[in-house]
Formats: sequence, C-alpha cells, structure tokens
Amino acid sequence: MITVQSLRHAFMIGKKGKEKKVEVLKGIDFNVQQGEIVSIVGKSGSGKSTLLQVIAGFLKPNNGSIQITDIETAHFTEKQSAAFRLQHFGFIFQNFQLLPGQNVAENIELPLKLKGISPTIRQKKVQDMLKRVGLTEVADHYPNELSGGQQQRVSIARAMITDPPIVLADEPTGSLDMQTEQEILQLMQQLNKESNVTFVIITHDEEVASIANRILRMSDGLLMEEVQHAI
Ligand code: ADP
Ligand code: MG
Repeated sequence: MITVQSLRHAFMIGKKGKEKKVEVLKGIDFNVQQGEIVSIVGKSGSGKSTLLQVIAGFLKPNNGSIQITDIETAHFTEKQSAAFRLQHFGFIFQNFQLLPGQNVAENIELPLKLKGISPTIRQKKVQDMLKRVGLTEVADHYPNELSGGQQQRVSIARAMITDPPIVLADEPTGSLDMQTEQEILQLMQQLNKESNVTFVIITHDEEVASIANRILRMSDGLLMEEVQHAI
C-alpha cells in the first residue's frame, strides 16, 4: 500500500546568502500493508509531521522513492499531487481543521463535492457516515458548537467519506482529554475493522502509538521498526 525507500528531506533556514541546510529525513525506509494501523512515534521535532507531508505530496523530497498503491509519487507536480491526494488520502489533524462557516454535514460532504459526486449520492453517503461516527443528532450544528471530541469525529468522517485507501492522522488526539482520546482511538479502530482502511497515525504519545498493529520509531532522521515483545 505504501512503500518508502531512501527518503530524504532537508529544510533551508536562515537569511538569503547565509542559508543553512537542516536535514530532517535522512534516508527513511518503511512499508505499510493495506488494512494495517501503523503508528509513527517520536519526540517532538523528530520529523514526524515532515514525513507525513512528504508522503502526502505537500512537500517534495530531496531524494528517494514513495510508492502508493504501486504508483511512484515522489516526482509528482503540485497539481498531480493534489489530484492524487483526493483519490488516495484522508487527513486528520490535531486541530481538526473544520470550516467554521459550514455545519457538520456540510464539512463531511466537502470532499465528495470536490470529487464531483452527485447531490443525491452525497446526501446518502453523508447520512450513513453521520450514523457510523455517532453524529446524526448534531448534523446541523456548527463546529464552534461542538466539543473537541465531536469535532474530531467530524474530521474523521470527512477523512473517510470518499473511502480513501489510506488515512493519515497527525497527532489526532493531541488536543483531547484522556477519556475523549480513548473514544477517538476506539472509533478509528472500529472504522479500520469495518472498512479495511489503512491508518498511519503520527504521535509523540506512547499510549496512542500502542493501539497500532506496528510501531515505527523516528529518531535522528531515521525510522526503525519497534520489536514486538511477546508477553
Ligand atoms: P515533529 O512533527 O516530529 O514534531 P516536524 O516534522 O514538525 O517534527 O519538524 C522536524 C524539524 O524540522 C524541526 O526541527 C523543525 O523545526 C523543522 N521544520 C519543520 N518545518 C519546517 C519549515 N517549514 N522550515 C524549516 N524547518 C522546519
Ligand atoms: Mg508534528
């Protein structure tokens, strides 16, 4: 589903003429199978969000290969990346990133509109998804009328409404209290079981990481598979 090889990314920082190169990804190798929940764990500043942005095509790598469903995406233009994202990825962010002027149903519907799906099919899909994530009652509420947990449910629904093969989640529970965190993690596990969607969860929180089938640890610009100890 995802195969990444020798992936490198550096940022140029500082004033013009005095730029310094900061290497963040120093040769990343990993793969993810369809239907897995994989977490990428590591300290703040270790390059996790950078890796996610490179996989999604928001940032271009300096080197290396990214294959998503056997398609090489590392050299896509911005336009190709945007089209590819719409077909292959859903996104969940720490701060939800909902549109404040749109209600719950409209926020969830948005990716279907972008894909050009007809209004009748959109309606049906949104109603089904509202049920799956437990938001039917608040369908016409606006994001600022919801709790953090409810807002994250909306963004999970929006990420999954187009049935993408892969959902990328960057610190999905970072803004939530512990109980809500558990509810959101359970929801992601439930959706993964129901639809075989692949989840890549980025987190600095070991407990969040532990819900995954596999844990990859980011350190010194490299990604290592965590050895699973039988208890
Ligand atoms: P994490 O998500 O693991 O906390 P990030 O990927 O956000 O880490 O950041 C990794 C490193 O890259 C940090 O040292 C950060 O300061 C640097 N960095 C991130 N984005 C930029 C940018 N746009 N320009 C320059 N440096 C950046
Ligand atoms: Mg981050």
